[in-house]
Amino acid sequence: MKKILFVLFFFTIMVSAAFTQETWQKVKIFSDDLRSDIAMLRKSGVIIDEGYIGKDNSISVFLPASDVEKLRTTGIRFEMVIDDWDSYYKNLPVLSPEEQLAVRQHSKQNYGVEGLTYGTMGGYYTYAEINAQLDSMRARFPNLITQKVSIGTTVGSRQIYAVKISDNPDATENEPRAIYTSLTHAREPAGMMSVMYYMFYLLENYNTNPSVKYLVDNREIWFVPCLNPDGYEHNRSTNPNGGGQWRKNRSLNSGSYGVDLNRNFGPYTYWNSPNGGSSTTPSAIDYRGPSEFSELESQGYRNFVVGKNFKTALNYHTYSNLLIFPYGCWTYLTPDSAIFSEFSSDMVAMNGYSPGTAWQLLYPVRGSSDDFLYDGDVESNGKIFAMTPEVGGDSDGFWPQQSRIFPLAIENLGPNLYYSWVAGDYVSLYSYQFDRQYVNPGDQVQMNLTMKNKGLSGASNLTLELESLSSFITVSNNSVNVPSIPSRGSFTTTSPMIFTLSAIAPIDTLCKLRIITKKDGVTMSADTISFITGVPTFVFQDTTNNPLTNWTI
Ligand SMILES: [Zn+2]
Repeated sequence: MKKILFVLFFFTIMVSAAFTQETWQKVKIFSDDLRSDIAMLRKSGVIIDEGYIGKDNSISVFLPASDVEKLRTTGIRFEMVIDDWDSYYKNLPVLSPEEQLAVRQHSKQNYGVEGLTYGTMGGYYTYAEINAQLDSMRARFPNLITQKVSIGTTVGSRQIYAVKISDNPDATENEPRAIYTSLTHAREPAGMMSVMYYMFYLLENYNTNPSVKYLVDNREIWFVPCLNPDGYEHNRSTNPNGGGQWRKNRSLNSGSYGVDLNRNFGPYTYWNSPNGGSSTTPSAIDYRGPSEFSELESQGYRNFVVGKNFKTALNYHTYSNLLIFPYGCWTYLTPDSAIFSEFSSDMVAMNGYSPGTAWQLLYPVRGSSDDFLYDGDVESNGKIFAMTPEVGGDSDGFWPQQSRIFPLAIENLGPNLYYSWVAGDYVSLYSYQFDRQYVNPGDQVQMNLTMKNKGLSGASNLTLELESLSSFITVSNNSVNVPSIPSRGSFTTTSPMIFTLSAIAPIDTLCKLRIITKKDGVTMSADTISFITGVPTFVFQDTTNNPLTNWTI
């Protein structure tokens, strides 16, 4: 009897420990030297990660209340933004069925996407709902998407599913490959909804949009919408309506649950970089695990990419409106930083995110999937240009309210498309040269174009088309053929395109032309050139390169 009571006693303690949830708070920390204060806080056991970096020397982060108490003892200035996350989240506005319908109709009209619905966990799909969506995509589009395949089984016996979108999906074709993942961190479902939205976009626009058809026909695009099902399901068990703050997986280490999967990737030298950027304490939210690739989820991802020759990868996280590229674990740039810079600046031009490496943006991160994919195992994988979008702004946090789900997905649609394009051939206008400095009414202008293949495969069978977007411009020859352009190479046209500005065009008028790059007759990119008619009037001219020598102030 004593024994039974004893066991019951411990069972009760275990059960209550499992169900006692710590209060999460959101604080805004101010510091003149965020880097060193973050390092100092880490020593006191307060881990700052995936917070929103303000322009006022601040960072807004979610912390357990016990960490906020530790923060208080350091004397670092901070403001309480949300003092009880759960009750704050419960009071966030939700969309009525009519409002949800209106959002979905807008999505259908403007982007051709009607498959994405709202899930039952605060508007986000649960793990089961994600899987059901993957099954339904296959049922609707059997010629464009595979059945879901498991790339690993978790400690909790759940499957990590991947699907491929391509023509002839059940065959392996020699096409450039891209991969998109989300929910590596269990409390970041806005990344998953963005990825699912992109999947529906490709499937539902295939028959009506020739560019989407070209992309799907000429790429193999893989998706792993939930890399961490145990952690995500844990959040559902504690917070069935959304808002759960569990981040790691659910493996057990020295009495503590969870390894931070985005600190668990190898190789050893990256995982163990002396710059820090992960914790060796099992209870910490960024615990790196007992060894690199100790976790079934990171093993599954590693094993899945081997030999597939992926070219690009986007590993979705939330939040802080960033686009992060390698290295995370070193404080220097990769040998391919010019490519990462070009890709990231083209992508953030579409959504206003800030690009950079983890270290440039704030602090190093070691053991991330991006560093591993980039050059952690070049022999097996080549170099995969992996980046991490951190979706959402300061007020979005980890569980953006329902009204934000579609806007966040839509703001990442352009970048998602771009990153599938550059996995293969992707040619766009790099620069242009007119045969004169100014264009006056009546002028006939010859123009040469420099085109760049930003993509990671060679491009061929290209045609450039010139279109007038202004009523005063007449285009004479509207098409030029371009021979092949090697990956990352450029080509300048030698037979010019010609247009005429009407003699009756007023001066000081903004005129626009459009250059359309076509591959096999399908639009690959479209760029706009603009100029103002007439010769500008100079109000000030200085002949020196060093104005200070001629000026007195
Ligand atoms: Zn994350």
